[in-house]
Amino acid sequence: MPSKHEGDRENRLNRLRQRMANEFQFAMIVAFGSLILVAVSFFAIYRLITGNISGAISNAVVLCLVGSVLALALTTRRTRLAGMLFTLVTVIGVVLSSLTLGATAVAWSYLVLWVNFLLSSLRFALAMNLALIAVLALNNRLFDHSVEAVTFAVTAGLITAFGYIFAWRLGHQQDQLESAALRDPLTQAGNRRMMRRDVDSAIRQNAASGRGFTLMLVDLDHFKRLNDEHGHDAGDQVLRDFAASLRQHIRSGDGLYRFGGEEFVLLFPDTNEEVAERLARTLHESTSGRLTGLGGELSFSAGVAVLLGGENSDGWLRRADQALYEAKSTGRNRIVAAAMA
Ligand code: GH3
Ligand code: MG
Ligand code: MG
Repeated sequence: MPSKHEGDRENRLNRLRQRMANEFQFAMIVAFGSLILVAVSFFAIYRLITGNISGAISNAVVLCLVGSVLALALTTRRTRLAGMLFTLVTVIGVVLSSLTLGATAVAWSYLVLWVNFLLSSLRFALAMNLALIAVLALNNRLFDHSVEAVTFAVTAGLITAFGYIFAWRLGHQQDQLESAALRDPLTQAGNRRMMRRDVDSAIRQNAASGRGFTLMLVDLDHFKRLNDEHGHDAGDQVLRDFAASLRQHIRSGDGLYRFGGEEFVLLFPDTNEEVAERLARTLHESTSGRLTGLGGELSFSAGVAVLLGGENSDGWLRRADQALYEAKSTGRNRIVAAAMA
């Protein structure tokens, strides 16, 4: 039987493997960071042996900085920050080596100009690249003739432009893939997979920091009748309009998901019982019964459940569903708060 220590290690490795597979930016930071550590270590040792102390020190500084950023990415979930810091570190590394090692820095700069687009946001990488190109091109110790400096600026500029377009395309495709995997095509609300992801994350945050979350399960009243009277296509349009109307009335950090058919789920972060009830009531007043256009008002009923400490996602949804059932059975077009146990 594996010891507890081995089990923990295996769990950590599995989590790392999962992050490498799921988070593009994280995978780039770990892959590029590890390679840089190995490559620069060789140069540092070589320079130490050959007595180039300032070169070895500049390498050691880069190693420390890259190692710290790698540790930040591996031990926290702050991938975006780690990516930005990594970009900053690579740019500082090249500037340092341009001061201590001269023209060698130009060779490294081409690698850095390209990789920056894989490590951080488009705009940040672009700004850092332009700054790096300017600093190197204006350093008159690096190039013998101004033609060489101009040639460097042009080729480095072209790599930056190409990297920008490449990363923009990649990001665009990722958005499209994510949208196809996580959104309901009819209403553009999140699908069940996105809901699962966000609900699980809410439960984790609640356990870690006590952050409050509320689920609101919404079901349109007598929707079947609307379909029967006006046809399925008209019903589809109503679902689209209804989702758009909900989206318009919620806060920017709130979640909206299509649970199935004519049922939607809303996820409100930073809510206690009082805030949740106010949000739900305001939403109900401003949207329920206000979607007309089909010869009758369209109302909805909803069950509202504030997440209880230690509750799992099934239990949380079940309480919201029971409250919704009560709203339906006591006359519809109303919201009911779930029991707190
Ligand atoms: P209640 O007030 O009890 O919720 O009544 P209801 O008619 O809304 O409830 P029920 O769950 O019996 O009917 C839901 C209907 O929603 C059944 C189905 O025809 C319709 N529906 C489900 N998915 C879609 C969809 O994607 N498009 C359209 N147009 N209709 C849908
Ligand atoms: Mg229903
Ligand atoms: Mg219904």
